[in-house]
Amino acid sequence: MLQQTRVRAVIPYYEKFLRRFPTPQALAQAAESEVLALWSGLGYYWRARRLQLAAQAIGAAPAFPGTYAELRALPGIGGYTAAAVASIAFDAAHAAVDGNVLRVIARVTNDASDTGAGVTRRRFQAIADSWLEAAQPGTFNQALMELGATVCLPRAPLCTACPLSGVCRARAAGTQAQLPVKLGAAKPRAVDVQVVVACKPGYVLLGQRAAGEPRLAGFWELPEPARLPAATPLEPVARVRHAIVNQLFRVTVLRCGPVRAPRGYRWIAADEAARLPLTTLTRKALACIN
Ligand code: SF4
Repeated sequence: MLQQTRVRAVIPYYEKFLRRFPTPQALAQAAESEVLALWSGLGYYWRARRLQLAAQAIGAAPAFPGTYAELRALPGIGGYTAAAVASIAFDAAHAAVDGNVLRVIARVTNDASDTGAGVTRRRFQAIADSWLEAAQPGTFNQALMELGATVCLPRAPLCTACPLSGVCRARAAGTQAQLPVKLGAAKPRAVDVQVVVACKPGYVLLGQRAAGEPRLAGFWELPEPARLPAATPLEPVARVRHAIVNQLFRVTVLRCGPVRAPRGYRWIAADEAARLPLTTLTRKALACIN
């Protein structure tokens, strides 16, 4: 859940998810639609699908995967997550390098290489491995991540409170603000879209994306105006913004009265809709109407 998402946004989802799926077996056996419904609003839904695949792989394994290599082989687990779980849960000596740790390394070593480049990442991983406190790898990894998240801040690092200030080369050189360097980070492309909330007391008009869709397959969403040609007038009631990877959706939410459901859409009772996997954009649009 924490991949590409802030802790504060994750906590309510994490708690709800663990209440419903307290074991890998519970998650492995659940219907995918229920898993996606509990994840709905958190975005990056491939994480939920792969987490369920990982739970199924864990269920089929003779024992819970406990080594870096076993964890790395699970669906959805990359080098960083495998190192974090292996070190924190199993005391295995692997350095976990996330964005916060990259920033600390770039500054402590005063290295202006492009952190988006694979060669830099491999070098920074090697530096983190060389720093790792092998007797307490989990504590070390959490300390370095926390230092990056709370002290070595992206815009205004708190150098006077930093335990590494005595060895930090960027601080000595006064270059903290210019590090880390990330070249070629594309600005998100703005996309204007409109969605319609058709109003009928206690119901919402939704359509389900086809199972074969490359994105958000099986998710439920609000119609666009073109699907409701008979819906007039369409009254703009809100604007929401929604970022996905390198796109920024600028969404105008329109409202109309009851209409005939077009093909592929149906009126769904509001309490049932709340249990469906809704796209994050739909969830945001409905929240501003409610
Ligand atoms: S001294 Fe400043 S720039 Fe260096 S690691 Fe600490 S907070 Fe970051």
